Amino acid sequence: MRILIVEDDDILRRQLIQGLQAAGYAVDSAANGVDAHHVGDSSPYDAVVLDLGLQQIDGLTVLRKWRSAGRDMPVLILTARDGWHEKVAGIDAGADDYLGKPFHMEELLARLRALIRRAGGHASAELACGSLTLDTRNGRATVDGQALSLTSHEYRVLAYLMHHRDKVISRSDLVEHIYAQDFDRDANTVEVFIARLRKKLPPGLIETVRGLGYRLTAPVDAPANGEIHQHRLCGSGGNDARHDRA
Ligand code: CA
Repeated sequence: MRILIVEDDDILRRQLIQGLQAAGYAVDSAANGVDAHHVGDSSPYDAVVLDLGLQQIDGLTVLRKWRSAGRDMPVLILTARDGWHEKVAGIDAGADDYLGKPFHMEELLARLRALIRRAGGHASAELACGSLTLDTRNGRATVDGQALSLTSHEYRVLAYLMHHRDKVISRSDLVEHIYAQDFDRDANTVEVFIARLRKKLPPGLIETVRGLGYRLTAPVDAPANGEIHQHRLCGSGGNDARHDRA
C-alpha cells in the first residue's frame, strides 16, 4: 500500500512519513500544492493525507483538480482543530475523511486503514481468503491460525492482493503499490516476492493469470496431482466454484 503525504510543515511532514513507514506503507511526500497536484495526478496511491493550508496552490484546489481529472483515491484532509467550515468545504470538494490538528498518529492510521479497506470494498478490519487471514490493524497474517513471518515487502504484496482479492492484479500494479517513488524499482523483484509468499501460503492461493498478472482466490480443493483448476471467490462465502482459470 502506497500513501502520499502533502504537508508544508517540515517537522509534521517528517513525523507523518516516519509514522506511516513504521506502519508498513510505501510513502511519498509533497511540500507544496504544485508538487502535490503533479504527484497525485501521475502516480496511483492507495490513500492521500492532504493538508489544506499549502503554498502555491491550496489543498482544496488541489483536491478539486484531482477529482475533476477523475482521480478517485481516498483522501483524508488535515484541517484546523475547530475548522468546521474547512471540513464541510473539504468533504464537498471530494475528501473522504478529515482530521483536525493536532491529532494522534494512531487515529490517523486507523482512519487510513478504514479508507483503504472501504476503497477495496471491505468493511471488516480482518480480511480473509480461505484459511488465510490478514488483520489490517496490526499487520498480522495467519494461515489456519498460525502466524506467518513476512518481510516488509512480502507484507505489502500480500496486503495489496488481500485488499484486491478475487481481482487480477498486474505486475506493474504491484510495483506501483509496494514501492515509493524514489525507490530503485525492479519489476522482477515482484516475481521473487510472489514466489516467497507462495512458499508460505497454502498451494493455489495466489494464481498466475497468464499474460495478465496474479489473483488471490481460495482454491476449492487441492487434488493429488497438485494442479488446481477450480477457485472460489474469497468473498463469496464459499459455494460458487469457478472454472475460469486462464
Ligand atoms: Ca499547512
